[in-house]
Order: sequence, then C-alpha cells, then structure tokens
Amino acid sequence: MSRALLQHLELLRNLGVKELYRGSSSQADLLQSLSQRYSSCQNCPLGATRKNFVYGEGNPNARAMLIGEAPGAEEDRTGHPFVGEAGKLLDKMLAAIDLSRQDIYICNILKCRPPNNRDPESAEREACLPYLLEQIDIIQPQLILMLGRVAAQTLLESRLTLEKLRQSVHSFQGIPSYVTYHPAALLRNPHWKRPAWSDLQKFRDHYLSL
Ligand code: SF4
Repeated sequence: MSRALLQHLELLRNLGVKELYRGSSSQADLLQSLSQRYSSCQNCPLGATRKNFVYGEGNPNARAMLIGEAPGAEEDRTGHPFVGEAGKLLDKMLAAIDLSRQDIYICNILKCRPPNNRDPESAEREACLPYLLEQIDIIQPQLILMLGRVAAQTLLESRLTLEKLRQSVHSFQGIPSYVTYHPAALLRNPHWKRPAWSDLQKFRDHYLSL
C-alpha cells in the first residue's frame, strides 16, 4: 500500500469516516462529495480564519494537474481556485499552450487561506497534504505542473530555489512534474514571463506526448 494511500486512510479515520464508497461514484461525484465533507475541516488553525474552503476545480479525468500553494484573498472570498488577476493570467498561460481549465484540474496544497497571504507553516502543509494526495489518487494525472516556490519546495521536499527547481523534470508520486512561476509572482515580476513561457513550452511538449 502506498504512503499516500496510508496517509489518506489515516485522514479519513481521523475525520470519523467508517465506510469507503469509491467505485460506486464517478470521479466528479466523488470529488464533489469529498469537497463537501471536508469543507468544515479544522485540522489546522487556518480553518478558524478562512472565509471559504477552496478544494479545487477542473476536469476530474484530467491528464494534467496544476498545483499551487494556497488560496489568496479572492479565492478565499469566492471559494474557487485561481480567480482574480492571477487567475486571468493563468487562463492566458493555458491558452498560450492550447489548454483551458476544462482540460486540467487545478488546486492548491492548502485549502484555506493563510492570513495576509503569508507562507504556510510546515504544520499547516502537513495537515492539509492528505487532501491533495487523495485528489491525485482519484484523478490519476499523468503530468503535474507545480506553480511557485512554496508548492514546489513542499511537494518535492526540497530547499532548492525556484530557479533551480525549474531546471529539472521531477517525479512526485511517480508522476512527471514540472515547476514554474506562480501567476501572482508573474504579475509582480513581469520580466519572469519569458522564462515562464519556456517552462510552459516544455510542459506542453510533454503533455502532447502523453
Ligand atoms: S488548511 Fe487544510 S488542514 Fe487546515 S483547516 Fe483548511 S482544509 Fe483543514
């Protein structure tokens, strides 16, 4: 049994779940049901300060998952991942490689917003990671794109800089994984758009080869 699956089962047991019903639902129904079930989660202090739980959205059968760090103010307000200006830029980035949100599944490591968009604490990442591992287990993507330093360092258990991490194709849960800038960072630093485009082209080439 994989470590991810063990973590997931442990999470469910802690949440008081006694019965598993996977197999009787479609992936979309399952994700929807799990999102509702976890929406009142208080497994870390962020549960007390969030406005909305932001589980994830997109194609439940996606070949690629995009994973960011945590909801920002607009995501917290609406309950949807990657909205606002960063979300619009992400849509443009996807369109540039002939993809849309209907093609991919997008979510964050943390499902609740850290106050003032501070970096998530390690205990918060640890508490929330099983939800992401479960999403990956359900969607079974063939490719992952990690958006931003925090997402990449957390998932790859690395302290390397984003610049270094961007230079390799990694493996997360056995899935080929690329790293690029978070769209919010690109809004703050437009000169990073050129290297981000280079990352996206590599990701697109791999996607097209699937
Ligand atoms: S961030 Fe994750 S672990 Fe923390 S309260 Fe929200 S859903 Fe639960």
